[in-house]
Amino acid sequence: TKWVYRFGDGQAEGGARDHEMLGGKGANLAEMCALGLPVPPGLTIVSDACDTYYKNGGHIDDRLKAEVRAGIAAIEAITGRHFGSTSQPLLLSVRSGARVSMPGMMDTVLNLGLNDETVQALGHDAGDARFAWDSYRRFIQMYADVVMGLGNDAFEEILEDEKAKLGHELDTELSATEWQHIVSLYKRLIEEELGKEFPQNPEVQLWGAVGAVFSSWMSARAVTYRQLHNIPEGWGTAVNIQAMVFGNLGNASATGVAFTRNPSTGEKALYGEFLVNAQGEDVVAGIRTPHSITEEGRLSSGSDKPSMEKLMPEAFRELCRICTELEIHYRDMQDIEFTIERGKLWMLQTRSGKRSTRAAMKIAVDMVDEKVITEEEAVLRIEPSSLDQLLHPTIDPRVNRQVIGTGLPASPGAATGAIVFTAEEAVEADAEGRKVILLRVETSPEDIHGMHAAEGILTTRGGMTSHAAVVARGMGIPCVVGAGTMRIDQRNERLLGIGVTLKKGDIITIDGSAGQVLKGEVPMIQPELSGDFGRIMGWADRARRMTVRTNADTPADARAARSFGAEGIGLCRTEHMFFEGERIHVMREMILAEDEKGRRLALDKLLPMQRSDFTGLFTVMHGLPVTIRLLDPPLHEFLPKTDDEVAEVAFAMGMEPLALRQRVDALHEFNPMLGHRGCRLAISYPEIVEMQARAIFEAAVAAAQETGAAVVPEIMVPLVGLRSELDYVKACIDAIAGNVMAEAGMKIDYLVGTMIELPRAALRAHVIAEAAEFFSFGTNDLTQTTFGISRDDASAFIPTYQRKGIIEHDPFISLDFDGVGELISIAAERGRRTRNDMKLGICGEHGGDPASIRFCETIGLDYVSCSPFRVPIARLAAAQAVI
Ligand code: PEP
Ligand code: MG
Repeated sequence: TKWVYRFGDGQAEGGARDHEMLGGKGANLAEMCALGLPVPPGLTIVSDACDTYYKNGGHIDDRLKAEVRAGIAAIEAITGRHFGSTSQPLLLSVRSGARVSMPGMMDTVLNLGLNDETVQALGHDAGDARFAWDSYRRFIQMYADVVMGLGNDAFEEILEDEKAKLGHELDTELSATEWQHIVSLYKRLIEEELGKEFPQNPEVQLWGAVGAVFSSWMSARAVTYRQLHNIPEGWGTAVNIQAMVFGNLGNASATGVAFTRNPSTGEKALYGEFLVNAQGEDVVAGIRTPHSITEEGRLSSGSDKPSMEKLMPEAFRELCRICTELEIHYRDMQDIEFTIERGKLWMLQTRSGKRSTRAAMKIAVDMVDEKVITEEEAVLRIEPSSLDQLLHPTIDPRVNRQVIGTGLPASPGAATGAIVFTAEEAVEADAEGRKVILLRVETSPEDIHGMHAAEGILTTRGGMTSHAAVVARGMGIPCVVGAGTMRIDQRNERLLGIGVTLKKGDIITIDGSAGQVLKGEVPMIQPELSGDFGRIMGWADRARRMTVRTNADTPADARAARSFGAEGIGLCRTEHMFFEGERIHVMREMILAEDEKGRRLALDKLLPMQRSDFTGLFTVMHGLPVTIRLLDPPLHEFLPKTDDEVAEVAFAMGMEPLALRQRVDALHEFNPMLGHRGCRLAISYPEIVEMQARAIFEAAVAAAQETGAAVVPEIMVPLVGLRSELDYVKACIDAIAGNVMAEAGMKIDYLVGTMIELPRAALRAHVIAEAAEFFSFGTNDLTQTTFGISRDDASAFIPTYQRKGIIEHDPFISLDFDGVGELISIAAERGRRTRNDMKLGICGEHGGDPASIRFCETIGLDYVSCSPFRVPIARLAAAQAVI
């Protein structure tokens, strides 16, 4: 096999199609090169070599070295420069590039090949000694950090000290001799700290850097990032080695990043930032606040720093031309990196740009209108779970905003929380259920866990492409960056804003769409789900086969779900209705009754309450299907637990506390999830079923009269394992149906079906289907009973299982296709064998999980049912499953 793929001078051995082998960066460099775009020549070491590197115990084998040397020779031939030579030295950049981008996670070394001799030659060639020494100090610092593991802080300190001594504010003010002095301080620091010299031999430097890039794949932060994003460890990273081009070669040089459309709003306009006389890492690191690329961008951000459009009009025009070409070529919004060396533009990277969900919607819809992509492709471009972001509240426009700081609108949505100053505090607060806004001067990959835990993120430095901005957008967390009008006093844990000083724990609100920081908590409104969202969802609805229903227990839930597009109720958990207000007392009366007569008395009181609940649901759903499940949980869930609670309830019910305690104890079960619950209750106490069935049918009559729309109730029996269980309960229901129809003088169509949530039910589905008119897969219980893992205790060990690689994901969140999934397909197939038009659905939590929804599509379920807020996610996921 070939380890090294070359590109340069309009030719490339690989292309975009090879992104698995070459990594995203390498594949797109090759693609751009072949398109004839200005790309510095280079080579890519394939990502498989990363695995080999680990298998070799961290050694780069000789064959790889030979291929890399040959590739460098090709770069030398194109550039006319020589690696390690003391005249016209070739300098290299060494960068990682995995299959998917992992922003800021992996390592880079620039200016490689510099040493005490080549630095002289470089300065001589360029006619600019300052530039050469600036590059050398950058190289030493990066190399010491990435390869030698020394970190950045000590170097930054030296630089800050020297600048203070010399009275300079900006790095660009330092002269050649001043940089030369700093280089000597840097080298001395390395010797003191590590007891060895900074390597002078360019070959040694090269293999050091390549090894460090491979090693960065297993760094703690990369491992965490992969876990958060489900990226397999086996992929490894490719390594890109490229001729350096210099953005720090004076004031006609610059470096920048750009998006071909606005990544926050999706607006079709070049959007980006650049720095004059700087190298790539300066922009991303947020060390200097960058300038806008376009005049329009400058004006809208209120910056007085001249734009690239003004400063370098020729390079700007070339950049615009290339961006258009790339967008058309890739048929998607691109995120690019570039460098201008003495007026000449060089492309260093392109990839599909990360974007907020709102932007993703707008870009997809615009590209359909521009006839670049089809409607179906547009549907595929939206990550279903990202719709969560759109459902975030925003600040009520009628609010009078008390703005205490402004920055850049880095990630949309508004969030309120108490301020904290470290990632650790954010994680702690999250664990305790407190909402916080994480405040940092600038975030780094070490802050990832804290960013994840926070409601919102605020930084005082950096631009739209800074680490905080990129990561927050990816996570869908509201974020404001570069709030330069505010100052963080980290030592005293204070935030100094416009006219206020806040301390740790004070409440602020950030508006990630406007880039504002507000004092205190602010009224919010639910988002408008129309416009681009409406068009995408319309295309999704046209494409999907499965229906999307909701799990709703109250008319309010049902109404919310309908506004999100629910086409019926797939699960109404009737027990939730019994916890409200007065009802719990009547429910307890029923449970505590001595005999059937006592129970019936209490049930008579519950009947009108249930009837009005169901009438409400049927009315809101206006003729759409509504599945109502009979009482499911073990009865003791409704009873008091502690002695204090027992005393209180006993008093309210006029009972002796001791008698109540005895009854509570009698209902105690060792394994309530496998105990007296589900249809077992219905069989023990048929009078409960009779009351519920009567409430349902009477409500159907009432709702039909009120709305004029026929209601077809679907009555669902939980936890059935035997056909005879279902027969028994169904007989009760049918009897009541007959009575109510006779009383009302009206025919009511209804269905009786069952949940499939026990393995036995799945296996005996063909027999159960003789009695059941529909199945709904209760995958919460089915997962619990298939794995034999208690759903309420799983969190004690599932995370450990995931960390140790025993399981890939939590089976209570995303369906276990192999085991639970097989039972579902068996049940679906056997059920339909008996009753071929049988309606099949899913109502466990998995009904709102995109991967599980895809599975439901493949086995041909009729509908999925999920919580109201997940309905749009399910509609989109169901569409993507068929496209
Ligand atoms: C299920 O078990 O998947 C289900 C929907 O029922 P519940 O979660 O109420 O047990
Ligand atoms: Mg269940």
